[in-house]
Amino acid sequence: MWIYFILLIVQLFHFGCGVKLGTCYQDGNCRLPSCFCGGKSAPGNLEPSEIPQMIMFSFDDAVTGEIYEMYEKLFSRGRLNPNGCPITMTTFVSHNFTDYKLVRSLFRKGHEIAVHSVTHRTPTTFWKQASYNQLQYEIVEQRSIIAENAGVPVRNITGWRSPFLQPSGDIQFTLLQENGFEYDSTLTIATEKGFSAKRWPNTMDFGWQLDCNVLPCPFGKYPGMWEVPVQMLEVGDSGNGCLYADSCRPATMEEAFQLFWVNFHNHYTGSRSPLFFTMHPSWLREEHNMKALNYFFLTILHYYHDVYFVTYQQHLAWIKNPTPLSDILRFAPWKCDHLRYEPETDKDGNGHNGVSSISNCFPYLFLVLSTFPLFYTKIFFDKYCLLY
Ligand SMILES: [Zn+2]
Repeated sequence: MWIYFILLIVQLFHFGCGVKLGTCYQDGNCRLPSCFCGGKSAPGNLEPSEIPQMIMFSFDDAVTGEIYEMYEKLFSRGRLNPNGCPITMTTFVSHNFTDYKLVRSLFRKGHEIAVHSVTHRTPTTFWKQASYNQLQYEIVEQRSIIAENAGVPVRNITGWRSPFLQPSGDIQFTLLQENGFEYDSTLTIATEKGFSAKRWPNTMDFGWQLDCNVLPCPFGKYPGMWEVPVQMLEVGDSGNGCLYADSCRPATMEEAFQLFWVNFHNHYTGSRSPLFFTMHPSWLREEHNMKALNYFFLTILHYYHDVYFVTYQQHLAWIKNPTPLSDILRFAPWKCDHLRYEPETDKDGNGHNGVSSISNCFPYLFLVLSTFPLFYTKIFFDKYCLLY
């Protein structure tokens, strides 16, 4: 309780006296691998052409049988990054309704398991006002539950995201740091005039220096603790964006595909800052969303050899040790020898597995994307592309 009181005093001091957190200068008062200012500059001062385009998918809430099946389809065994390892994602797991056998299976396939509370309770004001003890239960107990029930070592569970993206201010960051977490992914960054902010994550050595979109944000400094903010996706020319892909609510497969494609294209042809797609898996119950995402994976994996789907942990490992594309095949944190991965066998005997199973549709897709508006692509999707 006294820690909470001290933090309150710090917050009052911060407001009342105009105390500054200090300015972060990369390679000055902040050095990798333990400190990174984040923002628009790439780590290692690499040129965009030297940076692998990293795409991080994160899914929140319970892992159930239905949800697991969706993950299995999207991250199926034949789908490999350019280094030959399976594409991976991060799932922030809350306790209720979660089947921990399935969590264990996801972990063994190389996906990252992160923490998303025991109760996930409503209302959101609970999280805004949570006490130290309440939040400790939600964060630390859920990590223990995952470890014990899914057999994931505690040292491998290093990330936290608050339910509803509702921060709990300094209590949250104090708890995460005290308990050895590597990163938080709760704070948010809005679009800039309708465009994704395209920022790199930062350590909290100099605190949170951007606008606080959802109060209360932390005021303190947390050296070495990473904040991987949820960044708004951009949506066409509307000037609007969405933090969760769910709230963009595309009405058709074309619109959903465009959501993925526009954001990818703008990152890939721009600074190659990391691209985050944040969503609830329930969003994939809409068939057109599932098909669009599936098709996005297939398109990227087929055409791009400098794009990687990795976990948050793998992403942070790259920032700590920014490795240019020319050396990326030797980058140890992205290797998968420990998974004992074996390429999927051709079970049905027709030469189809993973990406190659729909290779016949790609010439058509390429033609369609480069020639016609997206409106017409559905005809070609349905006719030529075996999406499941
Ligand atoms: Zn949630």
